[in-house]
Amino acid sequence: MKTNLVVGCGLSGITMAHRLADELNEEVVIIDTKSHIGGTCYDYKDENGITVHKYGPHIFRTNSTEIWDFLSQFTEWYPFMHHVLGVIDGIEVPIPFNINSMHKVFPKQLAEKLETKLIQQFGYNKKVPILELRKTDDEDLQFLAEYIYQKVFLGYTIKQWNFTPEQLDPSVTGSVPVYISRDDRYFQEKYQGIPLNGYTKMFENMLKHPNIKVRLNTAYTDVKDIKSYNRIFYTGAIEEFFNYKYGKLPYRSLDIRIKTFNTEKFQNAPVVNYPENYDFTRIAEYKYFLNEKSDKTVLSFEYPQDYELGKNDRIYPILNPQNQAIYNRYLQEAEHMPNVFFLGRLGAYRYYDMNRTIAAVFELFNKIKGKVNG
Ligand code: UDP
Repeated sequence: MKTNLVVGCGLSGITMAHRLADELNEEVVIIDTKSHIGGTCYDYKDENGITVHKYGPHIFRTNSTEIWDFLSQFTEWYPFMHHVLGVIDGIEVPIPFNINSMHKVFPKQLAEKLETKLIQQFGYNKKVPILELRKTDDEDLQFLAEYIYQKVFLGYTIKQWNFTPEQLDPSVTGSVPVYISRDDRYFQEKYQGIPLNGYTKMFENMLKHPNIKVRLNTAYTDVKDIKSYNRIFYTGAIEEFFNYKYGKLPYRSLDIRIKTFNTEKFQNAPVVNYPENYDFTRIAEYKYFLNEKSDKTVLSFEYPQDYELGKNDRIYPILNPQNQAIYNRYLQEAEHMPNVFFLGRLGAYRYYDMNRTIAAVFELFNKIKGKVNG
């Protein structure tokens, strides 16, 4: 029987481990340096009965029935649709910035004029990345674009990345486009939800398989019998695997401060963004996600910071052409090792959300399955 070593027990590693074990009936050893499974999706129920996402809020969404059905084997869902408010000049407005947001911050006549122009130029129910909207020739829409750029994106993006929106790959701010709509939801995907008993429980169910062995508190360098594995799936940082041969790849990290407040409700939405004020980017209030009741409330404050080896975790790859070029050199090196695969946010150096993480694992798994069966 073939044996696989999966390095990293986060969403990509666990998904791959399950499919190898279950569909190919192969043995899998999955390791992680941390003392818990789930990677940055890890959650736990605290003493007040509130499920806390230790590494910041995670809301699952996908348009793929295949992915939704796959995860639904391991969890029931709380049918949750995410809402985010952003505080602009002290006023709470829906994020992504939409027509309702416009009516909250501008006088009626101005908002109506801008609304008409936006719909004429782009159409209703259209999503326009801020960097696209800024290219408009219309003077009024230029004013609007500049307003949104300054009030919603610039401060937040500098806090989050220490770069301006133009210095990053356009997909970064493009994932929260201006939305010409009255739909206040953060996401529009067909399937959206939170695992009813938490992400960690869902992952435990995925790993509960006779062919899978989980070893926590274990680094790749602790594995003595590497050569005995037929395949290695590496979800850690690719540059670490290659001993930084072509240099470091930069990441942003987060200092997530979790606080319990002695009040039933703190804010008006599960997540509130602060583009202009404070040093944190956003506050999440966890009782919203599974509608949990308590006379206390648990919040997380996210303070972005640079990733530093040994100090914090790699959380966000910093997407720009220079970093992509370094990554590509590592990837070329990887091509000489047909039985080692790099996946996940760190292995692929991609700013994946959960849906895209799983889609990429499925794609790789299907290739492997094709080879095994063909
Ligand atoms: N963004 C912003 N202001 C906001 C929300 C998002 O400038 O109020 C930009 C920012 O650059 C951020 C990116 O859009 O990093 C992606 O936001 P998202 O909420 O998807 O980030 P994540 O949840 O992955 O941290």
